[in-house]
Amino acid sequence: MSSILIIGGGVIGLALAREFHKKGFKEITILEKGLIGQEASFAAAGMLAPQAETNNADAFFNFCNESNKMYPNFAEELSDATSIDIELDRNGTLYLAFTERDTQEIRKRFEWQKDAGLEVELLSARETHKLEPFVSPDSLESLFFPNDWQVENRKLLIALKKYAELNDIQIIEQTEVTNLIFENEKIKGIQTESGKLFSADLVVLATGAWTSLIKHDEGILQMPKVKPIRGQMISFHTAKRLFTKVIYSRRGYIVPRKMGKILAGATVEDIGFENKTTDEGIEMVRENAIEISPSLANLPIDEKWSGLRPFANDGLPILGEIPNTENLFTATAHYRNGILLAPITAKVLVEKIVNKKDSEFLDKFGIKRFNSANAI
Ligand SMILES: Cc1cc2nc3c(=O)[nH]c(=O)nc-3n(C[C@H](O)[C@H](O)[C@H](O)COP(=O)(O)OP(=O)(O)OC[C@H]3O[C@@H](n4cnc5c(N)ncnc54)[C@H](O)[C@@H]3O)c2cc1C
Repeated sequence: MSSILIIGGGVIGLALAREFHKKGFKEITILEKGLIGQEASFAAAGMLAPQAETNNADAFFNFCNESNKMYPNFAEELSDATSIDIELDRNGTLYLAFTERDTQEIRKRFEWQKDAGLEVELLSARETHKLEPFVSPDSLESLFFPNDWQVENRKLLIALKKYAELNDIQIIEQTEVTNLIFENEKIKGIQTESGKLFSADLVVLATGAWTSLIKHDEGILQMPKVKPIRGQMISFHTAKRLFTKVIYSRRGYIVPRKMGKILAGATVEDIGFENKTTDEGIEMVRENAIEISPSLANLPIDEKWSGLRPFANDGLPILGEIPNTENLFTATAHYRNGILLAPITAKVLVEKIVNKKDSEFLDKFGIKRFNSANAI
């Protein structure tokens, strides 16, 4: 196997390309229907938050946690290779409670995380304010997760793209793949919208929310459905940095970046491929941010945007080989955590493809977990 085609140039496709390159592959091509890194990966908030985003110490939590642990090294290697700092920020994350129900929820979270041996602190309102003085005085208590971090996801995409360019990974933009071409159970190549054919020894679908739109010869390809879940976000700007940590409530979150930028998110909407902001969506995100910190109420919205999260019907990633094919793989459906999960996804999938190394994560998140009722 020598030539590799990766379809989709989001964080997952780019991270896979880098990992294949690190293993010594020379002929790697990324085909992207738009521009590299401009879809969900660009829209994301960049939170690396296993403890805020999961509800149990299960396989998904372990997958998130392992990937989070890879980030310091991932950031350093990218910086060495590209001179781009992806701004890994390890100040931690707060999770606030404003109501009785919120309090119950964060205490439950505190218990399972303590039982699992994770670092987590339950803070009083006074302790919370000491850490973040601009948090609402209405917050009752909070959890502090020192190991939930954030990264500047747009810089991460620029760094991964630069890595590809510096290492002769071919990037072909504005080229939509429409068909997968098989001979018996082997993929021979792909066809683009303009009818152009590309052949390859191995193909990986890293096509995010659009994965189910690619055509194939039914009898052969069994892929579970992936659908888009829209998220709308906004940002504010302040002259100096008001917050040091990512701050969640049960309804929203704010992410303070360097230089006074504050992101706020996000809606969760099952409305198909309509990738745009709406007045109601933006207002909801703004209100949820103001609940976290009333200091945001008088700030104008600096930027607003939306993105489509790739969602499988059990909310978990879909990774690994596609059944009944020999050389077709996928890494998709990372839903709310694709930025966090990019390093581990690339590592376990490329290890499987190149060294035939199995992983408990490929077992858990493989396509075989779906029954045929979910197949397209
Ligand atoms: C508002 C919002 C906030 C988020 N916040 C976070 C967060 O804080 N932390 C986190 O970890 N995750 C977050 N996520 C989730 C994260 O953004 C996604 O899980 C991740 O970006 C998925 O990466 P991807 O590469 O699979 O998808 P994408 O970035 O969407 O990339 C897929 C690419 O494939 C291309 N493509 C699709 N079909 C074809 C085709 N047929 N031919 C050629 N190219 C094709 C698309 O154009 C696209 O560029 C957030 C998402 C949203 C929307």
